[in-house]
Amino acid sequence: MSDEVGTDPQFRSDVTVELVRSAAADSDVIWAARVSTAGEQSLEEVRKDPEKSKGLINFLMRDRHGTPFEHNSMTFFISAPIFVFREFHRHRSGWSYNEESGRYRELQPVFYVPGEERKLVQQGRPGKYEFVEGTEKQHAVVVEQMAASYQASYRAYQEMLAAGVAREVARAVLPVGLFSSMYATCNARSLMHFLSLRTKDDRATVPSFPQREIEMVAEQMEAQWAELMPLTHAAFNAHGRVAP
Ligand SMILES: Cc1cc2nc3c(=O)[nH]c(=O)nc-3n(C[C@H](O)[C@H](O)[C@H](O)COP(=O)(O)OP(=O)(O)OC[C@H]3O[C@@H](n4cnc5c(N)ncnc54)[C@H](O)[C@@H]3O)c2cc1C
Repeated sequence: MSDEVGTDPQFRSDVTVELVRSAAADSDVIWAARVSTAGEQSLEEVRKDPEKSKGLINFLMRDRHGTPFEHNSMTFFISAPIFVFREFHRHRSGWSYNEESGRYRELQPVFYVPGEERKLVQQGRPGKYEFVEGTEKQHAVVVEQMAASYQASYRAYQEMLAAGVAREVARAVLPVGLFSSMYATCNARSLMHFLSLRTKDDRATVPSFPQREIEMVAEQMEAQWAELMPLTHAAFNAHGRVAP
């Protein structure tokens, strides 16, 4: 997020994910796996027979030999509301995070408001929720109340800063709908585990029911990862979207 946003609140319904750095390819999986049998020749082995490589990736995925999927790295820059990051940071294994600070910089007034396509009404029992479309009236009350609440809390934040109160104290009034940004670095194995929990997909043998906003982040991460590692991505889908 830029520093030029100013004090007028901005409302966003999207999240953004940018792949800023990567060293990740299907061949990384193959050479890591083939070291078992080919030793230091494994990198050469990768180039010999692409069909065999595809078969090996499928075998590793099916039998959940997970470690060959760890020898790669992807760093994403993500802008999303704080409530998404609260969920995100629960993913501990194979992840590194750095998030913007509310102690060292003034937080900018960029807030999340659900878009029209966001289903607003929850039905069913815990663990088996279904979300259905909201009415126009429900959408209107969401937008109106969120905007009013965001504006009031940001005004209170600004008043405290103007009175000389420290940022780390004043930020207590800001809501979880405020946008934040972070770098998140992972490997294909930790990303697959994240995707298995944070996306809803008919191919999943173990279904998950994530909050839509973290799923919006996950979908963008998955699309960018699939371009880097198409064979691994296809094998993940073919074997029920379970992390190996
Ligand atoms: C739909 C959904 C609803 C959720 N609802 C809630 C909720 O209501 N309340 C709540 O608090 N959380 C909730 N969570 C968060 C959830 O409990 C996990 O914290 C989150 O999904 C991260 O999963 P993880 O621990 O498997 O991931 P990671 O932390 O990345 O761990 C990956 C894997 O490493 C292993 N591992 C990591 N740490 C340990 C450890 N200390 N001991 C043993 N094995 C370990 C496990 O095999 C684990 O699956 C929810 C998650 C989802 C997807």
